[in-house]
Amino acid sequence: MKPVTVITGGSRGIGAATARRLATAGHHVAFSYRRDRTAAAAVLADIEAAGVRGVAVPADTRHPGQVAALFDAAADLGPLTGLVNNAGVTSPIGPFVDLDPADLRDVVDINLVGYVLCAQQAARRMGDGAAIVNVSSAAATLGSPGEYVHYAAVKAATDTLTTGLAKELAPRGIRVNAVAPGIIRTDIHALSGQPDRPDRAAARIPLGRPGEPDEVAGAIAWLLGPDATYTTGTVLRVAGGL
Ligand code: NAP
Repeated sequence: MKPVTVITGGSRGIGAATARRLATAGHHVAFSYRRDRTAAAAVLADIEAAGVRGVAVPADTRHPGQVAALFDAAADLGPLTGLVNNAGVTSPIGPFVDLDPADLRDVVDINLVGYVLCAQQAARRMGDGAAIVNVSSAAATLGSPGEYVHYAAVKAATDTLTTGLAKELAPRGIRVNAVAPGIIRTDIHALSGQPDRPDRAAARIPLGRPGEPDEVAGAIAWLLGPDATYTTGTVLRVAGGL
């Protein structure tokens, strides 16, 4: 039987790269998106072209009912074996004192509450051998001063969620890990007001360049796969040395 994996935020960036990679590796894939229907349709077409089944669900991970609908749609593909908690946002880059409370709430609601709601659905439905990967950030340990300290703090919470859930779900044979990307070339930087951030940051990245979404997708695929069966509760840094 093929693995069945839910990916949140699969229409662009790291989530889309992960959807395509997992489909190529033989996973049926159910993914959510919020707004970009055209991008979601393109990813779905690539999943199906890989010879597996896919479903794209417009589901905002902030809302428990929409999260449940995403997992119900995935259930049509078979028993759930994987979750990639990926849907995330930053805020306009800037000093901490200028942070708008509405942006703060968005970051907490999507990057933390959404991850918890999805992990809860997954934990209720998964069995022995299943795995969850939370997409964290190198920001969790770097702190993102002058950019988005609140986002970094929420990503640190993602790491703690990973530690606790890994221990709670281990007796049921469910593994829980995180990846912590550094600066990856996706639309998230334009959405935070600095589309050129990956290129400007290159000089301070030890490997001398930003990462590509597929380089993170590879780490996620490994954590979900059969070579990682003794790996749980870890945060795998994919950050070019940052
Ligand atoms: P991205 O290119 O902006 O893509 C974000 C994806 O999440 C899109 O598919 C978007 O769908 C979806 N999404 C956003 N809010 C959502 C919501 N409330 N419900 C459902 N879907 C939602 O972002 P990315 O750079 O790939 O980031 C993915 C993850 O990696 C995030 O958790 C981010 O914090 C983390 N990360 C990124 C970097 C980086 O440098 N790129 C570094 C470290 C960590 P729509 O387009 O339909 O809105």
